[in-house]
Amino acid sequence: MDYKQFVADVPDFPEKGVTFRDISPLMEDGEAYSQATNDIAHYAADKGVEMICGPEARGFIVGCPVAYKLGVGFAPARKKGKLPRETVSVSYNLEYGKASLYMHKDAVKPGQKVLVVDDLMATGGTIAATIELVEKLGGIVVGTAFLIELRDLHGRDKIKDYDMFTLMQY
Ligand code: 5GP
Repeated sequence: MDYKQFVADVPDFPEKGVTFRDISPLMEDGEAYSQATNDIAHYAADKGVEMICGPEARGFIVGCPVAYKLGVGFAPARKKGKLPRETVSVSYNLEYGKASLYMHKDAVKPGQKVLVVDDLMATGGTIAATIELVEKLGGIVVGTAFLIELRDLHGRDKIKDYDMFTLMQY
């Protein structure tokens, strides 16, 4: 499927000079969303994935249907103050300033094979932080998957030790 027809390119969002790749048309098309989910699920099944993790919020949109399809669990990585029980956290650099992500301490079992997903990889900071959280919990990251990779930003260099599956590249 030509998935790019379901991505809206939004110039100058969220700031001037940036083209935002909006995936909402893909989610709003039942066939495209379902096919994208199946493609990632095939990749995950081949890796023997037992759990899926994704960062707030579009990582949930990509990861949850894949988890449902495979009959495995989904564990969210969330921003500060969202998870009610004991957490582990990781801080990472944004273009301007810092951010943190959190996971429940018991979200992943030691030794569990985990797929880490998000809608898009830009600099790779968000996915690297999510991988670090999963590994803090003892999970084994057997792969990563994205709808979109923005190649110019070289995010892949941040996660070069991990296998990666993407449906679209820009
Ligand atoms: P990174 O940490 O790799 O620099 O940025 C990736 C994160 O920012 C992802 O969680 C993603 O949802 C969000 N993001 C950054 N740019 C875009 C974009 O153009 N489109 C979408 N859909 N998400 C973006």
